Amino acid sequence: MLDRIKNIIDVNKIKTNVSMASYTTFKTGGRAEILISPTTTDELKNIMNFFYENSISYYILGNGSNLLVSDDGVKNPVIYMDKNFSGIEVFEDCITAKAGEHLSAIAKRAAEESLTGFEFAAGIPGTLGGALIMNAGAYGGEMKDVVEAVSFIDITGKEYVVSGEEMEFGYRESALMDTGCIITGATLKLTRGSKEEILGKMADLASRRREKQPLEYPSAGSTFKRPHGYFAGALIESSNLKGKSVGGAQVSEKHAGFIINRENATTQDICDLIELVQKTVYDIHGVALEPEVKYWD
Ligand SMILES: Cc1cc2nc3c(=O)[nH]c(=O)nc-3n(C[C@H](O)[C@H](O)[C@H](O)COP(=O)(O)OP(=O)(O)OC[C@H]3O[C@@H](n4cnc5c(N)ncnc54)[C@H](O)[C@@H]3O)c2cc1C
Repeated sequence: MLDRIKNIIDVNKIKTNVSMASYTTFKTGGRAEILISPTTTDELKNIMNFFYENSISYYILGNGSNLLVSDDGVKNPVIYMDKNFSGIEVFEDCITAKAGEHLSAIAKRAAEESLTGFEFAAGIPGTLGGALIMNAGAYGGEMKDVVEAVSFIDITGKEYVVSGEEMEFGYRESALMDTGCIITGATLKLTRGSKEEILGKMADLASRRREKQPLEYPSAGSTFKRPHGYFAGALIESSNLKGKSVGGAQVSEKHAGFIINRENATTQDICDLIELVQKTVYDIHGVALEPEVKYWD
């Protein structure tokens, strides 16, 4: 397969036998046999079409900040959509960015342009594509609030542009989630505001994160989705699980909603701890916690 991929995309954009621990914020996971870093939409269309024609399954990777990869690694090729696929343009009160652009960079640019409405996303350590596919959100804001249009390539290699409404955003979900479609970029509609106030709000949210979240340890942020009518962190804390460890993985002592890689954890340690937390919370509160984090094997 590798030789055929080399016919489609420049060999410098292909890596083999790559440690996924370097590509995930949990800093765990085995190796990916093939990691492709496209830089143009045409390359992406060709890759997607090749995979489709040859029935090859693949993974899409952003900043790896909501991801657990099996310790045994992954055989399917990984399409990397990070700095290699980035760029930001501003027109009036709209920002158009490519999918690999980091939310922090978009928020910084919005502030520079005195555009308000994206401050909530500044501290989410993901790419635009990764945030759109799951409607990332924080501090009362969600991607759905700012999306004007999204461009993506479907599994056959065809390109589409859809409106924010057509994305059917819900709580940590969108119409494109788990479809194999790859988001290539989006236009965000913001509002003119005061640069000083925007920077002030971003600084305030950043200090709230530092105060509440265990940012000094590798993690993927909140491990579980918010169950209807509850907060995952509060349920976990009241189940006496704060500080609970399996191998090198631990329920954060600072924020029970985070599982952290405390010391050389494996993905298996983290998965075992996730299961233990789910079972304990269910036994005590009767609430089923669903992981927010994606798992590749
Ligand atoms: C310290 C910390 C704090 C966090 N705080 C928040 C928070 O406040 N709110 C929040 O919502 N999340 C938070 N997260 C989780 C994470 O940052 C978000 O879910 C983010 O949107 C994931 O983006 P990513 O680029 O890292 O995606 P990845 O982890 O690389 O991928 C996640 C999923 O998105 C898919 N994907 C990635 N890029 C694309 C693309 N271009 N097209 C199609 N599919 C794609 C992947 O296939 C995978 O299924 C936090 C994480 C950490 C580590």
